[in-house]
Amino acid sequence: MPKSRLLNSILSIWCAVVLGSSFALAQSAEPQPLPLPAPVILPKDTPYLGTLRLNVDATDVERHIFSVRETIPVRAGESMVLLYPQWAPGYHSPTGRVDELAGLMISANGVRVPWMRDPVDVFAFHVNVPAGASALDVNFQFTSPVDTPEGRIVMTPAMLNLQWLAVALYPAGYFARQIMVEASVRLPQGWEFATAWETAASNGAITAFKPVSFDTLADSPIFAGRFFKRLDLDPGGSIPVHLDIVADRAGLLEVKPEQLEAHRALVQQAYKLYGSHHYDHYDLLLALTDEIGGIGLEHHRSSENATVPTYFTEWDKNADTRDLLPHEYTHSWNGKFRRPADLWTPNFNVPMRNSLLWVYEGQTQYWGFVLAARAGLLTKQQALDAIAGTAALYDHRVGREWRALQDTTNDPIIAMRRPLPWRSWERSEDYYSEGQLMWLDADTLIREQSESRRSLDDFAKAFFGVNDGSFVPSTYTFEDVVKALNNVQPYDWATFLRTRLDGHGLGAPLDGITRGGYKLVYTDTPSNYFKDSEVRRKVTDLTCSIGMIIGAENKLSDVLWEGPAYKTGLTVGTQIITVNGIAFDADRLKSTIEDANKTGGAIELLVKNRNRFRTVKIDYHDGLRYPHLEREGSSPARLDQILTPRN
Ligand SMILES: [Zn+2]
Repeated sequence: MPKSRLLNSILSIWCAVVLGSSFALAQSAEPQPLPLPAPVILPKDTPYLGTLRLNVDATDVERHIFSVRETIPVRAGESMVLLYPQWAPGYHSPTGRVDELAGLMISANGVRVPWMRDPVDVFAFHVNVPAGASALDVNFQFTSPVDTPEGRIVMTPAMLNLQWLAVALYPAGYFARQIMVEASVRLPQGWEFATAWETAASNGAITAFKPVSFDTLADSPIFAGRFFKRLDLDPGGSIPVHLDIVADRAGLLEVKPEQLEAHRALVQQAYKLYGSHHYDHYDLLLALTDEIGGIGLEHHRSSENATVPTYFTEWDKNADTRDLLPHEYTHSWNGKFRRPADLWTPNFNVPMRNSLLWVYEGQTQYWGFVLAARAGLLTKQQALDAIAGTAALYDHRVGREWRALQDTTNDPIIAMRRPLPWRSWERSEDYYSEGQLMWLDADTLIREQSESRRSLDDFAKAFFGVNDGSFVPSTYTFEDVVKALNNVQPYDWATFLRTRLDGHGLGAPLDGITRGGYKLVYTDTPSNYFKDSEVRRKVTDLTCSIGMIIGAENKLSDVLWEGPAYKTGLTVGTQIITVNGIAFDADRLKSTIEDANKTGGAIELLVKNRNRFRTVKIDYHDGLRYPHLEREGSSPARLDQILTPRN
């Protein structure tokens, strides 16, 4: 031990003693804390003593119950801890559903073995293995939500989404990659399924999978369903990529040739961008449903995606859903393969830290839209309209005044995606979309500085494209990001990033739009992209005019902090009853907003909040305002270049 460290440790013991004695001196009759129990053993990088066997029965689709039988090899007489996964990769938060684990019964050699939940870490179960036992037989149910307030629904009589981390306990003390597991699943008769996990054997409804590490188990979810279709997205390619679709009804599975072409182009455009792949095969799992809860969750060799049932059949109405697959696919490179060093954890119960989510999610959000445009999943106009919407939204939100973008990376842990009363002030996971604007800023800056010779494409290839074919995670730090940017284009990238991440300035970062050859403008007419998104979300979005969004039952689903509606005291949940004395109608409210602009008339709303009625007058006279990007002729159309397919 070096001298200074030795001195420090002596000092800290001494300080503890002194502090302890001063506490002792000051001790009063009031309560003193009991010592905490020993923490659960930390994982080590050594192999577990044997292979776990995991059998899941997923046939109880009426009651949404997964029944689990697990055999865990053990040493006789040892005290051990079994963990239920708390930190599932991709969620960035400790949201494992241990509350849905029920019926836990453990036995050895046919004799019941008691378990005791840790009083501090409630995801940990202490077990004393009896003498003579070589394995524990573990039985429990994962009682998945049957109604939306309980959480995301993952099972219906037509389809299911099996995430293995929800249905597995594993021994504490080992890296997940050092624990081998073999598993099988029983699915409803006649259902088809897709997963990146390779099948070992199939016996009617039961499918057994090849042994893998617990890490790979977590990375290999299953989508299964009564109505199923599998499409080859890279015909003739050496690395298989498939789109595996389950749907609520058979008719939703109809895919037009041009739709298939755009999804195939996504694969080719990603290869051109990254110059690599980090899988030996890949499955885009896609659920078309309004019964299973929405999801976009990344894995190395697959992704879980649930979207609108009419994704294909009403293609023209659903443009705002089409960055989902490019986003989750991009994560195979950005997030799964290249992973922030503080986010990578050795098992699923060690806390994750999210300081670099503005790369992991922010740049993925950026490439999600760019790749969607390059592949033809979005037209150039739709992509421009999407960027306009994001820019306008973040330009109107003032939460940056107190909370820097960097701090929002803690939000998955703080808020866990619960609804917020003041979304625009409290801020949420803003590192996604404000991060997207920041990367547009960086991309156009590289293009400007290099006189169009280089771009963020070069960063993507250099940073995410290394070690082609590998899917062993490669971790990085802030300094690595700065260094890689500097290798593409010398610049003070550390200051560039820190200014945008830590700053409290007013307004969204819009330099990327300006340098891209456009400006953000507002007109009284929404783009088709905006309008279709309103229809799909069943809302009337007046954020940029009177500062509110009206949702189901004419209730406000968002009120913009410091906006015109906010100034009258309106809140989320308030119902609009009348507009200027006449029953509420979204079009009537819009024409009233226009009249207030042209004639200076009032916008008077009778509103109801719980059982209280009142009238509010919104003092607003700037008319309807919807965001668009308008070409600014004097600067090069770099944004057009960014959105153009690569050859
Ligand atoms: Zn993501």
